[in-house]
Amino acid sequence: MAYRVTLIPGDGIGPEVVEATTLVLEATGLQFEWDVQLAGGPALEKYGSPLPDSVLESIRTNGVGLKGPITTAFGTGFRSVNVGMRQALNLWANLRPVKTMTGVESRYQNVNLVVVRENTEGLYTGIEHHVIPGQAAEAIRIITRKASERIVRFAFEYARTYGRKKVTAVHKANVLKLTDGLFLSIAQEVASGYPDIAYEDRIVDNMSMQLVRDPNQFDVIVTTNLFGDILSDLCSGLVGGLGLAPGANIGDKLAMFEPVHGSAPKYAGQNKVNPAATILSGALMLRHLGEIDTAQRVENAVAAVVAEGRYVTYDLKPDRNDRTAVGTHQMAEAIAKALS
Ligand code: NAD
Repeated sequence: MAYRVTLIPGDGIGPEVVEATTLVLEATGLQFEWDVQLAGGPALEKYGSPLPDSVLESIRTNGVGLKGPITTAFGTGFRSVNVGMRQALNLWANLRPVKTMTGVESRYQNVNLVVVRENTEGLYTGIEHHVIPGQAAEAIRIITRKASERIVRFAFEYARTYGRKKVTAVHKANVLKLTDGLFLSIAQEVASGYPDIAYEDRIVDNMSMQLVRDPNQFDVIVTTNLFGDILSDLCSGLVGGLGLAPGANIGDKLAMFEPVHGSAPKYAGQNKVNPAATILSGALMLRHLGEIDTAQRVENAVAAVVAEGRYVTYDLKPDRNDRTAVGTHQMAEAIAKALS
């Protein structure tokens, strides 16, 4: 049986890393039917909307999507398609595992943590308006019991399922007393139902310092939307950069998988960037589909190629100008070949 998956190539470097990922996933021997959908700039050009209903319908029908990054202009232009899609499909949990890999130069060893980010509310509701144009603008930050409870529960259930020992809730309840105060009190409530898993909380500023100083003290981190977005990029920097950071957006029934990184427009069309973050997002998708052994095979193949350090992109070379670095496609071919 073939898995029917919505495939969104995105823009910028998206089409290249997505092509690299389908190459590896198809090399596993599993069958896929890719339902290709345009979103973002390319969809705006072709259909007059950056997020056509057909994209959402496709994911609703297939249940699962694999997505490349999509450019969102700063300050102007259409609303982020990424955020819009997560909200429209109620993909309320954003899961971002961060792990040290042999062969990658990074400041720390043995980092193995997961950022669980609330994906539908906080400051990302996009409710903003000008109070006095050019002088003052206002954004509304929404925190609800429903979303906070389900995301913290997700973090604890994830910890239980994957044998993790501790959950750290990250907030700013000293200043945002009502919104993060609510998130924190709900986190404490949920934690009391999981006596087998240690629980602590940290203020987001202290957390940033602690992560940089000693990331090994953390295991599962659960937090609100904006803090999760920032901390997950920070965490990817702890283990060698965005080229290796996969992500999953998970809802009650639907799920969409994408790398943490963006569309890096300056590298678009150059066959240059690291496809591993998207390939590892593909492995998360396989796990979600219940293909645990195949997911592990993909992760092992990525790890083997990265550890060997021969067929890797520029960002994984100690000298970023190393001329022996290979392109996106060639690294994907090496990973496909390394599948056991
Ligand atoms: P970015 O993640 O695209 O790039 C930042 C830097 O990280 C790049 O210059 C590059 O040096 C490095 N990098 C990123 N991906 C890499 C890879 N696969 N291999 C090697 N190096 C890699 O962030 P940005 O430049 O701030 O954002 C560019 C655009 O992407 C923006 O329009 C932003 O809105 C969008 N974005 C989209 C998503 C998404 O689709 N989910 C996520 C983040 C940013």
